[in-house]
Amino acid sequence: MVVKLREPTIPITEIEQSAFCRTDDELKAKTLEEEFSAGVRWQKLPVSYMRTSPEVLDQRIFDAKKKLGSRLVILGHHYQRDEVIKFADLRGDSFKLSQHAASQEDAEFIVFCGVHFMAETADVLSSPEQKVILPNLTAGCSMSDMAATDDVLDCWDDLQSTLADDGGIVPITYMNSTASIKELCGRNGGIVCTSTNARATFEWAFGQRQRVLFLPDQHLGRNTGLKLGIGLDEMIVWNPFKPLGGHTEEELRNARVILWQGHCSVHTRFTVAQIEQARAANPAVNVVVHPECTMEVVQAADSNGSTEYIIRTVTEAPAGSAWAVGTEISLVNRLAAENPDKTVFCLDSVVCPCSTMYRIHPAYLSWVLDGLNEGVVVNRITVPEETAEYARVALDRMLSLA
Ligand code: SF4
Repeated sequence: MVVKLREPTIPITEIEQSAFCRTDDELKAKTLEEEFSAGVRWQKLPVSYMRTSPEVLDQRIFDAKKKLGSRLVILGHHYQRDEVIKFADLRGDSFKLSQHAASQEDAEFIVFCGVHFMAETADVLSSPEQKVILPNLTAGCSMSDMAATDDVLDCWDDLQSTLADDGGIVPITYMNSTASIKELCGRNGGIVCTSTNARATFEWAFGQRQRVLFLPDQHLGRNTGLKLGIGLDEMIVWNPFKPLGGHTEEELRNARVILWQGHCSVHTRFTVAQIEQARAANPAVNVVVHPECTMEVVQAADSNGSTEYIIRTVTEAPAGSAWAVGTEISLVNRLAAENPDKTVFCLDSVVCPCSTMYRIHPAYLSWVLDGLNEGVVVNRITVPEETAEYARVALDRMLSLA
């Protein structure tokens, strides 16, 4: 057993999560300098970019993108701001974007408007000649940051020594994790999943061995286990700050699913009380949430699914229907604007964007595109080949299930 205790720590990405929460509905970008005044610690840019208005940046991005032509493809996650997502050639959730990244054979530059683990995945899946760029290097993900590589390696060593001769265990990591965690999964017979295919990856894993280690989101893991009929008494949470994750060897042997103690700072804001309030205001409202929400919220909702599922469900719903949505606010606002024949609103009345997705301010996009036009590649994301090799194995296993 690895006995290495350290004080519980909270990632800076989690601490900054509420930096842009507000009670009005105004999410319009300000200058980067003004946004810095929220006290956030983002990548610094030349002062000229810091002070340029979003309107001027908009035209500059348009011109720079045009000049780069087919040498460039911009991938944009649905949780990006309006001022950024409008420039994406391809949009998607993390699953769809990983497929897009793997299929972009012609572009010399892939600019990823999303967060760090997504850009890493794009680098792993694209060809060595292609350059993947993350406009703001501090655009991480608090959930991903909750699974530090050393902690996961210690956990894996403990599980190996406790369970190896007792049916074994398959590691599954959610896409929202670093390349080194994906590598650990690939090297040890495991797989990557997204919220689109979590169930299929659990079924695949139970075809290999008796147990699953699920990283880093305990809620997606628990919600998926419940969908497969696995009881709560068969799922335990691994606390990286306690010996053996806070369990006895017997408890580990009796578990079918071991959930890493991680969560999404955005989706755990949704509560059952918010659902009750929405239903009290309109008994006909439909509640749809993301499976990164807690088990209680997922069970109280009418339906749940990935970001792509939520978009499809609301878009295909009949005119006149009402939708309370439990996912990231930039996407919910966009859904509302694109479906004017329906009532679409966020379950949480406090407007609280994912603060790490929000770090891709138009000034960063403008800066990296200007650099490319001048022959300078800034903020390139590269995963060392020794890590990429097995991360690719875990990703390819997932893509072959799709
Ligand atoms: S929404 Fe949650 S999981 Fe997604 S990037 Fe933001 S913090 Fe990470």
